[in-house]
Amino acid sequence: MAFDIDMIKKLYSNFGARIDAARTATGKSLTLTEKILYAHLWQGAATTAFERGKDYVEFAPDRVAMQDATAQMALLQFMQAGRTKVAVPSTVHCDHLIQAEVGAVEDLSKAKTQNKEVYDFLASVSNKYGIGFWKPGAGIIHQVVLEQYAFPGGMMIGTDSHTVNAGGLGIIAIGVGGADACDVMAGLPWELKFPKLIGVKLTGKLSGWTASKDIILKVAGILTVKGGTGAILEYFGDGAKSLSCTGKGTICNMGAEIGATTSIFGYDAKMGEYLRGTGRAEIADGADAIAAHLTGDDEVYANPEAYFDQVIEINLTELEPHINGPFTPDLAWPISKFADAVKVNGWPDKMEVGLIGSCTNSSYEDITRAASIAKQATDNNFKAKAEFTITPGSEQVRYTVERDGYLDTFEKMGGVVLANACGPCIGQWARHSTDPNRKNSIVTSYNRNFSKRNDGNPNTHAFVASPEITTALAIAGSLSFNPLTDYLTNDKGEKFKLEEPLGIEMPVKGFAVEDAGFQAPAEDGSKVEVLVSPTSDRLQILQPFAAWEGTDLKGLKLLIKAKGKCTTDHISMAGPWLKFRGHLDNISNNMLIGALNFFNEKTDTVKNQLTGEYGTVPGTQRAYKAAGIGSVVVGDENYGEGSSREHAAMEPRFLGVRAVLVKSFARIHETNLKKQGMLGLTFADKEDYNKIQEDDKIDIIGLTSFAPGNQLQMVFNHADGTADTINVNHTYNEQQIEWFKAGAALNIIRREFEASK
Ligand code: SF4
Repeated sequence: MAFDIDMIKKLYSNFGARIDAARTATGKSLTLTEKILYAHLWQGAATTAFERGKDYVEFAPDRVAMQDATAQMALLQFMQAGRTKVAVPSTVHCDHLIQAEVGAVEDLSKAKTQNKEVYDFLASVSNKYGIGFWKPGAGIIHQVVLEQYAFPGGMMIGTDSHTVNAGGLGIIAIGVGGADACDVMAGLPWELKFPKLIGVKLTGKLSGWTASKDIILKVAGILTVKGGTGAILEYFGDGAKSLSCTGKGTICNMGAEIGATTSIFGYDAKMGEYLRGTGRAEIADGADAIAAHLTGDDEVYANPEAYFDQVIEINLTELEPHINGPFTPDLAWPISKFADAVKVNGWPDKMEVGLIGSCTNSSYEDITRAASIAKQATDNNFKAKAEFTITPGSEQVRYTVERDGYLDTFEKMGGVVLANACGPCIGQWARHSTDPNRKNSIVTSYNRNFSKRNDGNPNTHAFVASPEITTALAIAGSLSFNPLTDYLTNDKGEKFKLEEPLGIEMPVKGFAVEDAGFQAPAEDGSKVEVLVSPTSDRLQILQPFAAWEGTDLKGLKLLIKAKGKCTTDHISMAGPWLKFRGHLDNISNNMLIGALNFFNEKTDTVKNQLTGEYGTVPGTQRAYKAAGIGSVVVGDENYGEGSSREHAAMEPRFLGVRAVLVKSFARIHETNLKKQGMLGLTFADKEDYNKIQEDDKIDIIGLTSFAPGNQLQMVFNHADGTADTINVNHTYNEQQIEWFKAGAALNIIRREFEASK
């Protein structure tokens, strides 16, 4: 469970020197974000001025965290790297696969049975390779990371978009795909486009009903769901220093909702208190000693416009509580305007369920503030009108708030405590609903509220608010209730008004827990067997992809010429397929089933050149594979945009597609293809897309002299006996060409690791 204090001490001892080098290289004062990025440049990388939003830079993250759904493929890949242990401290957290239905105990027990093979695999693979394993019920990845592992000035990556939560403790924490996690665990650098910087200056102080959550709800309204793309948000100012560490975490967490790469706060007294309160005084001492390095330079915060690409200022004293939604987290309503908005837009006023907690808002402070509201309802003999659930973020928080009587307060109000897991936040919610077609409203203190996110029902209007506002609305059972101004009346006709919430940042008696749910890895994992049943349909040990045969590729079939948008969701659909994410063969049955076939404008219907008949894309490709024939996928602009899911590159590779030729790539997908040993190529002349015909047989020429910057040629042999030869571009560097030749990047890593023994 222990954090790696030696690693942190080493980082801190070099921190000042690295920042000085960066100041010299850039010739200017530095933001906190720049300091941390420069302190984590990959070994040997030159300290130079990078162009924001343009230059790709290699970094050396300190940690990796993985949640159970995404960890499966990341670790199956890591097993191929040939290492005996992970190269950086890493953890796995079992939180995404537990469905909320009845309550914590029953739901957890059911999940342990249903997901046994996945949990057994993750526990055994973690044990073998030196990875900390947090069992189901231990908590939600981001809350556990904040409590146990995040530290000021660090850099971590995690296989989940809300990894950014840890920014509340002053670490640059970024969500990535499994392939990136695999690389870092295997000891490779991690590449990131040097981000743009948005400064958020907070002045004043929160009071009354307004909470940290309202700051990010306000920011989301200003920047919208796309406004943070490619940027890191850096919060500063006296207002920032006044926020609790966990409140800062909430703000960073929801930075994912505006597309931000991550968000961060500078080290301050509140972070020190939180570190000491969670048993990490040694880190607090180390951070205190270099505190000036763990925040932006004075000149930067005195004159932010000169250092940030954009600056936003929010006065916390004037900030109102907000409620955002429905269907998008950037539709921001100050509470004084919300009742009107409900009426004007015809949203169902009756609030059916209030849900608090999740990785976003389940701190001791959140729970105590919400409980102070719940208690007033019970004290006034008022029964909550809506259903109410509480999702603790970790067993440590759950145990502590139970010990201190707060769960009892919620239960008296009619609340149900769910397992320490994602549950309704990720749609793992067997909601009790009589009529799914009925329009209805729910309010959560979670982060995302896109259609169907919580209960799979497009008629559910989901709104996001702070835990205390969510609790007040659940008590009133009405969206248009404003606890700042409105009164409630109990069954006896007595009127009362809810007093402002009162919270406690850190438990007076300290945090406590009986069994945090942690399994430390074996010191020597060499004898540990990784548990995967050969008959499992959810997990499959990967076999290395074959090396390139050393010749040009001839006689390939056209599998599909995709038309228009082809995102990673079109290439590897999510939804019901996610249960196969640890089984490459099974999940490959979704390959490109969402892509539109140029020739018939249909999805998942392509011509099988062997039979002349139309069939599914995966079925057709499997026929080619069985016949030992490779194929080519052709695509349009920005092919592979969307999530960084590595399955979108692994599936075509596994089924025998040899090249993907497109007008342009989304960069992450292009890199993923390269890592899997595929050819990712672009038309030198985009008009050549029109030359490709349905029955084409394709040759790829020039591979024996494959080199950076050299075009390759592709010959499209048409059914009528004519042919078109076109030039195609690629962006492979020397190392990536080696990946292609070896069959995959992991094949090289394994070879190099073997050679270094
Ligand atoms: S609680 Fe929600 S946002 Fe947090 S990790 Fe789980 S699914 Fe993601």
